[in-house]
Amino acid sequence: MDFSGLTRQYQALSGALRASMEEVLGEGRYIGGSQIARLEQALSDRTGVRYVFGCANGTDALTLALLAFGARTGEAVFLPSFTFAATAEAVAMRGATPIFVEVNDSFTLDPDALEKAVERVRQEGWLRPAGIVAVDLFGLPADYARIAPIARREGMWLLEDAAQSFGAIRDDRPACSFGEIAATSFFPTKPLGCYGDGGAVFTHRASRAALLDSLRLHGRGSHKYDHRILGINSRLDTLQAAVLLEKLQLFDQELARRREIAAFYHDRLTGVVRTPEPPEDALPSWAQYTIRLPDGTQRDRLKRRLAERGIPSAVYYPRPLHLQPALAYLGIRRGELPFTEALCEQVLSLPIHPYLTDAEVEQVADAVREEAGRTDG
Ligand SMILES: *Cc1c(COP(=O)(O)O)cnc(C)c1O
Repeated sequence: MDFSGLTRQYQALSGALRASMEEVLGEGRYIGGSQIARLEQALSDRTGVRYVFGCANGTDALTLALLAFGARTGEAVFLPSFTFAATAEAVAMRGATPIFVEVNDSFTLDPDALEKAVERVRQEGWLRPAGIVAVDLFGLPADYARIAPIARREGMWLLEDAAQSFGAIRDDRPACSFGEIAATSFFPTKPLGCYGDGGAVFTHRASRAALLDSLRLHGRGSHKYDHRILGINSRLDTLQAAVLLEKLQLFDQELARRREIAAFYHDRLTGVVRTPEPPEDALPSWAQYTIRLPDGTQRDRLKRRLAERGIPSAVYYPRPLHLQPALAYLGIRRGELPFTEALCEQVLSLPIHPYLTDAEVEQVADAVREEAGRTDG
């Protein structure tokens, strides 16, 4: 059994994908071909966000947003520690100080902990609270109904890390529409993935849009060799846009299948292990289906036994960002984010790609049911 389903997806789509890529190769516009604008329009139509710009990857999408917000040394940026490294890396690379905040049972930023963290930073007085990066982890949009008002009240910008949530919905709003800027990734294994690296930034605001568009093209001004500001080189390749345009055709079907599998796992596994409980108002993209075991020993044992039965699983994430050597300079000790630290011991993500057969999904559920309770050996 395969964890990502990418080869089966290619088999399902190969005719259309080859034709779409051939078109780019024949036209010879490998950078800036018409497919880019078509994709950006399609992403805008889908999310209802007015301005969308393709870029080189999800990490660059975060960086472009942070450049547009002017994040810099002396500023505090609030974000979860339970996320992929890129979320904090992009902040730290700008010279701003990541302030790690606990997540809650939904794996997303805990609004109460956020309020306390902002309060603490204000009291300490060393850093200026500047922004929040909320992560739609595993495909569930964060609790923006509570987070956005905190950002507004505190005069902070809000960036949505939607790398895992393209296609998700919460409060009747699509992922990528919540932040003042949102960043997504088209890394192959994300819900909407291309055949290499790719990403996009989204914003409702014209002023932010102009800045993002310029920043991704070396800060260009009114023409190609006019540079008003320092930017970066972060373009989406035309070939990747061509791939994404084809994959978008199947995307709703794929999302529906992911949701069907999630519902099946929920039925079969609730009570056996701790299953995700997305809020009523949410339709996650189910980038991952992540269960929890009581502790690291039981989690690792289940993972090993599933592997013995030919079932792949993955630990996202085994170590919280605040305990990564790369961020040791922040001086955060073990014990400061106890819930996040416990999650890293408890979590296990099961296969949920849309190309799993019903028999395979049953095989996964049966194996978890049989192995999760077994304590011997
Ligand atoms: C994948 C991911 C990123 C980075 O995306 P890349 O395209 O790999 O650079 C950022 N944040 C989160 C939460 C991710 O899962």
